[in-house]
Amino acid sequence: MSELDFATLAIRQGYLRTGEQEHSEAIFPTSSFVYESAAQAAARFSGEQPGNIYSRFTNPTVRAFEQRLSALEGAERCVATASGMAAIHSTFSALLKAGDHVLCSRSVFGSVPILLNKYFVKFGIEVDYVVLTDLNDWRTKLKANTRLLFIESPSNPLGEVVDIRALAELAHANSSLLIVDNCFCTPALQQPLKLGADLVVHSATKYIDGQGRCLGGAVAGAAVLVDEVYGFIRSAGPSLSPFNAWILLKGLETLELRMRAHSDSALQIARFLAQHPAVAKVYYPGLAEASTLELIKRQQSAYGGVLSFELAGGKNAAWQCIDRLKIFSITANLGDAKSTVTHPASTTHGRLSEAERLQAGISEGLVRLSIGLESVKDLQQDLQQALA
Ligand SMILES: *Cc1c(COP(=O)(O)O)cnc(C)c1O
Repeated sequence: MSELDFATLAIRQGYLRTGEQEHSEAIFPTSSFVYESAAQAAARFSGEQPGNIYSRFTNPTVRAFEQRLSALEGAERCVATASGMAAIHSTFSALLKAGDHVLCSRSVFGSVPILLNKYFVKFGIEVDYVVLTDLNDWRTKLKANTRLLFIESPSNPLGEVVDIRALAELAHANSSLLIVDNCFCTPALQQPLKLGADLVVHSATKYIDGQGRCLGGAVAGAAVLVDEVYGFIRSAGPSLSPFNAWILLKGLETLELRMRAHSDSALQIARFLAQHPAVAKVYYPGLAEASTLELIKRQQSAYGGVLSFELAGGKNAAWQCIDRLKIFSITANLGDAKSTVTHPASTTHGRLSEAERLQAGISEGLVRLSIGLESVKDLQQDLQQALA
């Protein structure tokens, strides 16, 4: 058979049916596994014989999720973690040593700079921050000891996009690794490894679950790198629970359909907001200017479900709009079937100083939407009445 398509892999890859002949994947809620003899236990622990040992590092449901996501990202190997931050923390812990330098995009999930500035610097790691879209900034800040480049593309909440292939080439010319947080696109819309990235990290909490039920994360890429991350997780323990792995495994089955629907609705809402008189500006990859749009179309198959817009009336106007919305939930989560609304300046980006916030382009009038799977007509009407 020729190579299977994404939709088939998302439903069929990575599960070994048990002797019970179940059709839907089984959950294995067990901490440990038993052996037929002392000799078999010894062989398992030494690695001489493959097989399950203990669910911190071997669990069949977790493995099924890892193998399915690995196939979807086009990775050699994938390891699952308890959350998206556990995936990022484990990757940094496994790959960095004292004296290494990290180049991190300014536009990444808020806990990442805290992790680097407050904790990793304690262990002798240097960090610099770069404007995501400015390849020249990346080039000039690379150093001989730069081990990792870390990005999200598209970024949160402004949907900015960097040329992943060009950035990977810059990184590799300096013997550095490029790590891409692929949470916003998921492999259904973008496969960074195929564009030259060395590792992909995920907050599976968002679109991979898709219904806001549980936390989870993953790291995928070349086996030599993922093996290192797996070794850290095996010893340190930020492992995914089999219950959550099962939810995420089932989430992958509908991922492509959902991502297409989120993207279609978000594009319609973005266009609606762009022509609304109360809206000063809309930030959405699908509304990018022509030269950027060309790049986005090259590396993403759609634009995703998150968009932001700016109200001229500042914070008062933003809060009033948020409070008037009837369908959208006021919550910082995203990637849910339920549409959500956030005021980044006072929540997700509230820990930044005003100067840092403005540098990141987060104004007081900015509102972020994660477009869910409700009727797009209903969502549009809700926004219409909230902005009236
Ligand atoms: C939510 C999020 C994370 C962190 O994931 P958790 O599962 O909440 O730990 C990392 N990156 C991005 C882009 C996110 O949206």
